[in-house]
Amino acid sequence: MRYLIISDIHANLVALEAVLGVAEVQGFDEVWCLGDIVGYGPDPNECVAAVREVASIVLAGNHDWAALGKLDVSDFNPEARQAVEWTQEQLSDESRAYLEELPPRLDQVAELFTLAHGSPRHPIWEYIVYPSTAAENFDHFETPFCLVGHTHQPVLFRRDPEDGAVQALMPALEYPLPLRRAAEQGVRLIINPGSVGQPRDGDPRASFAIYDAEAGTLSYYRVAYDVAETQARMRAAGLPERLVARLEYGW
Ligand code: ZN
Repeated sequence: MRYLIISDIHANLVALEAVLGVAEVQGFDEVWCLGDIVGYGPDPNECVAAVREVASIVLAGNHDWAALGKLDVSDFNPEARQAVEWTQEQLSDESRAYLEELPPRLDQVAELFTLAHGSPRHPIWEYIVYPSTAAENFDHFETPFCLVGHTHQPVLFRRDPEDGAVQALMPALEYPLPLRRAAEQGVRLIINPGSVGQPRDGDPRASFAIYDAEAGTLSYYRVAYDVAETQARMRAAGLPERLVARLEYGW
């Protein structure tokens, strides 16, 4: 089995379709989505429908909850809040009902994985940006590996089996990381596949990963998509200009 791992689509259908197209060429059997299907981008209902069609496991993220009114958005920045309000107006009853059912965390997926949107400790809102935060989270899941999204930055946090030290590793692209071997050696990882619809690591290309269960490897990918098309749709929807502009810088 090959699992396509995606996160933080943020209603960017053009980016999602580009990812699915390239992943199709690589080959995958199932899709896991780590949350934030909506928020920021111009195509919330279309993205919900697409994820619903392709993904076997889907988590809720903070923006999904915000769009449902399940989260206090007073600490969102003004542009994010404006996008949440716009998304709330757009969401169909069908999309809303689907998002309502999504869990923010799932344990024991394909034996090796726990899945959470933000972190295993606080699945909806905690950002794992630093190794120190990652270190505090390893006691909050049982499996060797935890997949997270939320920061929009592709990264692996590795806990050393000997001394417990945690370090951040930047994944090489299209290189099969020997995940099963790492698990056999007692290495534990918190793995972020990056963001499909709003990357924030300075690379505007959509990010995703594929786990090959047979080979026991994980590979990261980036795919360029038509950013200008998404931006045009955002401007037509009247979404904030700062959110439109950031897509071309990947921040
Ligand atoms: Zn997000």
